[in-house]
Amino acid sequence: MKIKSIKAITLSMPFSHGGKKVIFHGKEWKSLEFNLVKIETDKGITGWGEAFGYTSWKAVKIAIEEMVAPLLVGKDMSNIPELLLTLQKSLHLFGRYGITMFAISGVEIALWDALGKEKNKPIHELLGKKNKDLFKAYSSLFRYGDPKIIEQKCKQSLDDGYQAIKLHEIENDCIEAGRKGTGHLPLMLDTNCPWTYEETLSKKDFLKSMKLTWLEEPIYPPEDYETLAKLNKELEIPLACGENACTEFEFKSMIKQKAVTFVQPSVIKVGGIYEMFKIIQHAEKNNVSVMPHTAYFGPGFLATLQLAALMEKDTYIERFYLDIDQEFYPNFKRALNGKYKLPSGPGLGIDLDYNKLSKYEI
Ligand SMILES: [Mg+2]
Repeated sequence: MKIKSIKAITLSMPFSHGGKKVIFHGKEWKSLEFNLVKIETDKGITGWGEAFGYTSWKAVKIAIEEMVAPLLVGKDMSNIPELLLTLQKSLHLFGRYGITMFAISGVEIALWDALGKEKNKPIHELLGKKNKDLFKAYSSLFRYGDPKIIEQKCKQSLDDGYQAIKLHEIENDCIEAGRKGTGHLPLMLDTNCPWTYEETLSKKDFLKSMKLTWLEEPIYPPEDYETLAKLNKELEIPLACGENACTEFEFKSMIKQKAVTFVQPSVIKVGGIYEMFKIIQHAEKNNVSVMPHTAYFGPGFLATLQLAALMEKDTYIERFYLDIDQEFYPNFKRALNGKYKLPSGPGLGIDLDYNKLSKYEI
């Protein structure tokens, strides 16, 4: 099967978070920008992918269409790992991290979706042995900075079937509200890289008292694995990091330095499905669990489930707990008894109904 065309499609999706007005990059944050990738093959099969977008959507869209697509159109697509390596080698000058890798990731996911549809198999069957098809899910709350709203959002998450919650807070009263709202269930804390080593260590007693399942990205810069390794020992709280890391190479370094207890590759940033598959294999071989970053709703979310099916160790699937105007795959708005089920269809498992989404195209 040959690749006939590759197109990047951006959706601007209105969303509500239920908190106070938030100014993001200079204006009120009311929409999320998602980059979809649509691949058509010479056999008439359509594959869908997703590349990290949000504020970087325009740069990523151009990278897909001007940098990645010309290297692939017309090529045979039966060996995706080989195509991925060729892409990475051809484009390494333009960045092994960030925009270029986001673009490669989105296209690579669409290739797997098309290949799975051609072979009438889900992607995980093309990669290895399935180990699970039920996954624990957690509600990943927006940053509210308001204890009352946080407690209320925790309650709402539990009502929606989630049995674990992640906060994106940095103030003690907000974190306490999250613990109160979550009760005795698992609570994670993602701080998004605000602190130094000393600042993090000074919060040790408080953070320990919150009984966190993990503390995510406490320090800046996120790739300072040496400092993370020190904290992972001294803090006595499991650390997690990886949503800002790209390629297997960087994860190998993170694991070698014992920087974290949990690694968090993001399939729409890291280099795509095969790159993440290699990371999972390497991590599990080294006794490190993978807690994928999935703060998005489209094909990247399903690609993560396909990969999670192959994991031997326990994992959690992240659900960005926001209301978006139109769900891509409505089954995942709630978690049944705290869990998500792996969809059974070919490719990503569920085909995208673009008719429902086209009105958001920009
Ligand atoms: Mg995070």
